Amino acid sequence: MSQKKRGTIAIVGGGIGGLNAALWLISNGWDVTIFEKGSNVDEPGAGIQITPNASRGLLKMGLGPTLNRYGVKPAFQQFRMFDSGEVEKETPINAEHDGAPYYQIYRPHLKQGLLARVNELAAEMGLKHPVVHVNHEVVGFEENDSEVRLLFKDSAIQSKFDGRNESHFDLLIGADGLHSAIRKQIIHDDKPHYTGQIAWRVVVDTAKLQPAPESERLGNVMSVFMKPSSHVVCYYLDQGKLLNFVGVLERTHPATDGERKEGWKGKHNVEEFRRDFAGAHPALQHIINAPGFVSCNFQELYDREPIPNYVSPKGRVVLLGDAAHPIPPYLAQGAATALRGGIVLARALDAVKPIPEATKIYENTQVPFAERMLFASRQSGQHMHPKSREEILERFRKSNAAVDRAWIYQDDPEHISLIKTGYMRRPAMGDGTGQQL
Ligand SMILES: Cc1cc2nc3c(=O)[nH]c(=O)nc-3n(C[C@H](O)[C@H](O)[C@H](O)COP(=O)(O)OP(=O)(O)OC[C@H]3O[C@@H](n4cnc5c(N)ncnc54)[C@H](O)[C@@H]3O)c2cc1C
Repeated sequence: MSQKKRGTIAIVGGGIGGLNAALWLISNGWDVTIFEKGSNVDEPGAGIQITPNASRGLLKMGLGPTLNRYGVKPAFQQFRMFDSGEVEKETPINAEHDGAPYYQIYRPHLKQGLLARVNELAAEMGLKHPVVHVNHEVVGFEENDSEVRLLFKDSAIQSKFDGRNESHFDLLIGADGLHSAIRKQIIHDDKPHYTGQIAWRVVVDTAKLQPAPESERLGNVMSVFMKPSSHVVCYYLDQGKLLNFVGVLERTHPATDGERKEGWKGKHNVEEFRRDFAGAHPALQHIINAPGFVSCNFQELYDREPIPNYVSPKGRVVLLGDAAHPIPPYLAQGAATALRGGIVLARALDAVKPIPEATKIYENTQVPFAERMLFASRQSGQHMHPKSREEILERFRKSNAAVDRAWIYQDDPEHISLIKTGYMRRPAMGDGTGQQL
């Protein structure tokens, strides 16, 4: 099916946020091009939890086959003690959420699925050019009242796009992650700050693990092991063929001086990883001492203060995903909130013209939600790192994850009210702030 295009949109960044936004926009008739600085969009590494609020939109965009083929639907979330392995709390995790399951999936599988759907949808909608350009780093933009010009790092790429008259777009979406170049131009003097925590992100091929006795098997659960000032999250991916291990601990001095250091591995680092989790219950030791890893990466965790604006002064450049609102990982909601942003933006552009009015609606609708999510995630992070064993047990007694997270998992960005003018800070979700469409 070929349709008349509504306008041109450039997305900077082929992450989960950028690819998902492309899906919703292309399906609404926009002519979309993604510029990704990496040599592919197929990010290496760890697993990701796709909670029901996130899977709802992905299923709508045709990602069901990917999620069901490569994902795992855990039955329970279990909170356990790091050393004794004692299960302190168990909550059902995949009770029906209106047909939107809770998935765990290997990131490369999700990214490959998103990319394939983007290309399929572009063909269906009659887009004549490739949607995704890899090795295209964008360093900034020029904006006037009617269009945006992209500025590429590579002058040969700049000349090529300028020469073809293809560097100008009706809208630019900065989906270029935590260290966004587009954000720098909109929000000056704003730097991420180190949270004091690092995360080990390790993936294991389960076929290479030694057979474990029953008591050391994790089962089809999302396991959280807690000890003072540290926690480990473990879950299966790819129908159980892979196992994901995320271990977060406190480390006062960032080893990498403010720059994210990802993707390195080696004997020394594996030894460091094993040292960091010494004393773990045998179920974890079994994983930590695996003979080899698919990947074993170390990452410092950064945070930013929330900002009230995601949109440039002329309204033709917007920030999306981590570029707009990086969210600490403790509720597994960073990518989910990025996915939400793509849906909200596509709906706003569908609901009103001209573009600067639509981007304002996107901002009004997304800012308070992302801010609420940021604070909820920070709080969850504090709860995950009590200072003593007694405090951990006290937290288990008091918390009820199913109730605490209901507002998150019920969020349905395709159907929430868009907020037309203004918003109150940190409202209860979807509770009618501002003038709604
Ligand atoms: C330990 C950990 C665990 C997590 N677990 C979960 C989870 O279970 N569930 C969940 O929902 N979230 C989770 N998150 C958060 C999630 O990973 C991020 O929120 C999400 O990946 C953000 O997606 P994004 O597309 O906005 O940005 P990114 O994934 O950072 O993608 C940005 C893309 O832009 C590209 N880029 C950057 N600069 C430029 C440029 N100048 N020009 C062109 N391209 C550029 C990059 O190469 C990259 O491909 C976790 C985070 C961490 C740290």
